[in-house]
Amino acid sequence: MPMTALDIFKLLPKKNCGECGVPTCLAFAMMLANKQAELTKCPYVSPEAVQQLESSASPPMRTVNVGDVEIGGETELFRHEKKFFNQTAYTFIIEDDLDDQSVVERARKLDAMKYERIGIISGVDLIAVKATGDAQRFSDVVTLVNDNSGLPLVLMSNDPKVVEAGLKIVSKAKPLIYAASANNCASMANLAQRYACPLVLYADDVDELVSLSEIAKSEGIEDIVLDLNLGAKPLGHALEWLTILRRLSVKKLFRPLGYPVMVNLDNGTDVETQAIRAVIGTLKYASLIIFSDLDAARLYPLTTLRTNIFTDPQALIQVNPGLYDIGKPNRNSPVIVTSNFSLTYFTVASDIEASKVPARLLVVDTEGLSVMTAFAADKFTPEKIAQALKESKVAEKVDHKKLIIPGMIAMLKMKLEELTGWEVIVGVKDSSALPKYLKELASG
Ligand code: SF4
Repeated sequence: MPMTALDIFKLLPKKNCGECGVPTCLAFAMMLANKQAELTKCPYVSPEAVQQLESSASPPMRTVNVGDVEIGGETELFRHEKKFFNQTAYTFIIEDDLDDQSVVERARKLDAMKYERIGIISGVDLIAVKATGDAQRFSDVVTLVNDNSGLPLVLMSNDPKVVEAGLKIVSKAKPLIYAASANNCASMANLAQRYACPLVLYADDVDELVSLSEIAKSEGIEDIVLDLNLGAKPLGHALEWLTILRRLSVKKLFRPLGYPVMVNLDNGTDVETQAIRAVIGTLKYASLIIFSDLDAARLYPLTTLRTNIFTDPQALIQVNPGLYDIGKPNRNSPVIVTSNFSLTYFTVASDIEASKVPARLLVVDTEGLSVMTAFAADKFTPEKIAQALKESKVAEKVDHKKLIIPGMIAMLKMKLEELTGWEVIVGVKDSSALPKYLKELASG
C-alpha cells in the first residue's frame, strides 16, 4: 500500500526547520503523500529513510517501451478511478518459415492495418517475428520485416543465439525479447542487458514468474514484461489471474510483479477465440496481446473497444473549434453549425460527405459536449455561436448569410438572427437526415 502522511512523517528528521519550504515536517510529509513535493527539498533525511521513501514513491507498475510503443505504467484497477494510461498493444506474428515475398506482403499489410475513428488512428502496434529455424533465416526475416514496416518488433525464440541474430539487426529500435524462461533466463537477461532491450519473462506458474523476476532484476534488467501463459489457460482462469496480477501490482505494490502483463494467443486457437480472448484481455488487464492472426473485420471492433477503454473518462474527446470544409465548398455552399464533441463532429461530417453536397461546418467550442448536453449546460448559446461565426470569418467566404443550426436547438433562432444579422435556418434534428436534407436544399 502507498505510504500515508503519517508513515512518511515517522521517517522525517522532525527538526521543523522549514528549509523544505513548509514550516513543519508534518506539513512536508502531507505534501509528499500527495505527491506535491520532492523529497530532495529536505536536506536532513537519512540515507535509509531516502531508500524507503523512494521505493514507496516509485510507480506500482513500470512503464516499458517497445520501440516507440509504451505499455504498462498503470496505477488503477478500474478506469473510473483515474484512467488507464497505455493501451493494450496488439501484436501480430510473422513466422520466419514464410517465403520472402510472403514476409514482405504480410509486413506491409500489417503496417497498413490502421483505422480512424473519431479522429483517433488505431490498429496493429507491433510485429512479432517468430523463429522456426536457424539464426540466419531469423536474421534475414527480421531484416525484411524491418525494411517493409515501420512497426516496432518482438523477437520470438527460446534460443538466445537466434534472438541475438535479430538483435544485431534491430536492437537500436528497442525490440521486445520473447522470452526468458527457467531454462534460459540468465542468457536472455544477458542479451537484454547488453543490447538494452526489454525482456519478457515466461513461466507457467506464478512462483516461478516471481523468481524469474528476481533473477532478472538482480542482473540489472528493469524493462520487464510478464507472461504467465494465460493465453493457453481456460478463459475464466486467465481472467482471474490477470486480475490478481494487476491487484498485486497496483494495490499490494508487490515489486517482483510490478510490470506490464502480456497474453500470447499464438497457441493454435482459431481467430474467433483469439478475438474473444482479446476482448477480455483488453478490458482486464493485458498490456500486450500477441495474435497468430486476425482479420480486419475482427480487429476493427477490437480497436474501437480499446479506444473506449483507454480514453480518459474525465476528459471528453473533442475536436478543435473552427470552420471545416467538407468536400470542396464554393461561395454558395451551405454553412452548418455543430458542437465540438468528437463523435458529433465526425457523425455530422460523414453525413455531409454522404450527401455529396460540399458544405462548411462551423464547429463551436462546447467544451466537448454534444449538442443537446451543451445546450442544457448553457454552453451552446446564441452568443457563443455568434462569436464563433465572427471568428471563423466565414462571411468573407460565402455570398449568402444563411446559417443552418441543429433542429434540436430551434429555440435559439431568433436571438441568433438578432446577434448576427444572418438568416438562421432550423435544420434536421438527427444528423442521419442530413444527406436527404442537403440534397433537397441543393436542388432548390
Ligand atoms: Fe522537517 Fe526537513 Fe522540512 Fe526541516 S527541511 S522542516 S527537517 S522536512
